Amino acid sequence: MKYPALIIDKQKIQENTRYLVNRCGACGISVAAVSKVFCGIPEVAQAMIDGGAVMIADSRMRNLRQLQVLNIPKMLLRIPMKSRADEVVDIVDVSLNSELDTIQALSEAAIRKNKIHNIIIMTDLGDLREGVWYEYLVDFIGQIIDLKGIHIQGIGTNLTCYGGIIPDEDNLGKLVSLAEQIEATYNIKLEVISGGNSSSLHMVFKNEMPHRVNQLRLGESIVLGLETAFGERIEGTHRDAFTLALEIVELKEKPSAPVGHIGMDAFGQKPVFEDRGKRLRGILAAGRQDLNFNGIIPRDEHIRIIGGSSDHLLVDFTECSRQYHIGDIVEFDLTYGGLLAASTSDYILKIII
Ligand SMILES: *Cc1c(COP(=O)(O)O)cnc(C)c1O
Repeated sequence: MKYPALIIDKQKIQENTRYLVNRCGACGISVAAVSKVFCGIPEVAQAMIDGGAVMIADSRMRNLRQLQVLNIPKMLLRIPMKSRADEVVDIVDVSLNSELDTIQALSEAAIRKNKIHNIIIMTDLGDLREGVWYEYLVDFIGQIIDLKGIHIQGIGTNLTCYGGIIPDEDNLGKLVSLAEQIEATYNIKLEVISGGNSSSLHMVFKNEMPHRVNQLRLGESIVLGLETAFGERIEGTHRDAFTLALEIVELKEKPSAPVGHIGMDAFGQKPVFEDRGKRLRGILAAGRQDLNFNGIIPRDEHIRIIGGSSDHLLVDFTECSRQYHIGDIVEFDLTYGGLLAASTSDYILKIII
């Protein structure tokens, strides 16, 4: 085994998916499993399919392209670029949309290719990221209803992403009533009401999800076993499907405050230090080029992260009961941001077990 490594446990991903698919299924909700945080590695996405996900969703065309090997419907999560309409129609079965110009481009591309492209219209219920502002949604649908080559599969929303707005019976109730207004106005049936991401799960758990919400797009809850409205652990899921493993390359007793006149560190900041006396300090072989230091949590709770630079992570082993040696591996849990950084780093080996 080589390090630094991100170790991905497929069995745990599958079990997490299975648990959430069952909980959602009990409320009539199907799960689109989101693969963007691990850059759409097909083998890991396959574990989500084995766990019962009916669709794989990703934000990046590059990831979706490599997911082509999987025989399951695919969703583009990010609002598509108009310039990529052709590719979107080629590669994904359904895309989330909010712009008339882009939807027209998708329609034209689909007509050229003799295809029907599915779209879900996103509505902004207050979080202020993507979507047609909810007051204009019904009119917006009127502008696209007659376009050929596309099929309006339904409407959706995304919350707790920019504005931190928590899904509740008010905003998701509004989503359902908008769907009903659209159906009555245009005499159509919306098949999908996509009620958000992992932050909507608390409503499933409390059995408060408005009837007719029938899809959730779940990423963090599957990969990290966390719900994201309140940041709580989800009982019955694994928190440790992903492990960051780093090797110790130096281990020495040193003072905790530098010696000499303090100027700037490698990142142009003037550092400040607390003098804690002599400490057992270690260097792990990974740095800020690979990691988000704020997003990694040592599994040995006695290890303290001191800081680091581009290629070195400094940790304090003084309080540890276990004896560490040069060449030992230190394991970390990851936050969502930590996992994102580790996944995208080309320097961190991805090992699937
Ligand atoms: C990333 C993303 C999701 C998944 O969010 P999680 O919090 O990881 O469950 C769902 N929908 C959209 C539009 C996204 O961009």
